[in-house]
Amino acid sequence: MTPPSSCAAAPAPAEASPAEGAGACHQLVDSHCHIVFRNFDADLDDVAQRWRDAGVRALVHACVEPSEIPAIRALADRFPELSYSVGVHPLDTRHWAPDTPRVLREAAAADPRVVAIGELGLDLYRQTNLEEQLAALRPQLDLAWELDLPVIIHCRDAADPMLAELRERAARDRCPRGVMHCWGGTPEEMQGFLDLGLFISFSGVVTFPKADATHACARQVPADRYLVETDCPFLAPVPRRGKRNEPAYVAAVAARVAELRGEPIETVARTSSANAARLFRLDLHNV
Ligand SMILES: [Zn+2]
Repeated sequence: MTPPSSCAAAPAPAEASPAEGAGACHQLVDSHCHIVFRNFDADLDDVAQRWRDAGVRALVHACVEPSEIPAIRALADRFPELSYSVGVHPLDTRHWAPDTPRVLREAAAADPRVVAIGELGLDLYRQTNLEEQLAALRPQLDLAWELDLPVIIHCRDAADPMLAELRERAARDRCPRGVMHCWGGTPEEMQGFLDLGLFISFSGVVTFPKADATHACARQVPADRYLVETDCPFLAPVPRRGKRNEPAYVAAVAARVAELRGEPIETVARTSSANAARLFRLDLHNV
């Protein structure tokens, strides 16, 4: 799709602070959020006003297990800029059941606002049940391939088994498109996923001062292969680290990526939004 061009003519934000500098740009995409969580119940209209003020034009809401789907769908009814994924998170495998692939397939077929399968993946940081996680991961990768939807991949301390799984699929020409969400790996690991055609999404982690490997990845990632996200309510970027995160703060993530790449924030906002639109087939002109 044609990248939105409204920012091209906008003046550079003079001396804007990195955390707020994208406010004038009106074309950010928060490619991964969880505003369905209860800690948004009290003030979601204010949260939405702030993301609109910050220039967030589209949000992709991630799903961690199927019982969330009706509530996420209701949020998409309420906020037209929101699309969403359906899937089972690797730390939620207790919710995996024999009929889960059918449930996910029907949810995806029922609503064109379902733009991805996920979040799915492997997490060996908090759990050691690799076989159980693979048993939920593989049918979801098959489903994404079957439905021609991208996958949103959560991968923590598990780059090797995830790369092995995806490479085996690529060898059979059955590796879905997708994004490595909340990227926190090394440049070498990133290259492995890039070689498989995947996108890399940066979260508030890239704003943390000691995240050297993530900084290196933000500098090195090709322009046509990165997204930005909040993963809110988790991982609020500096200077709000430790507080509840929200979609408006994706501007701080984009600002830090811009600083690391030595590019104007308009470039990062426009590029990451165009990449998200291409991956998830979002129409940014209609929101
Ligand atoms: Zn998430």
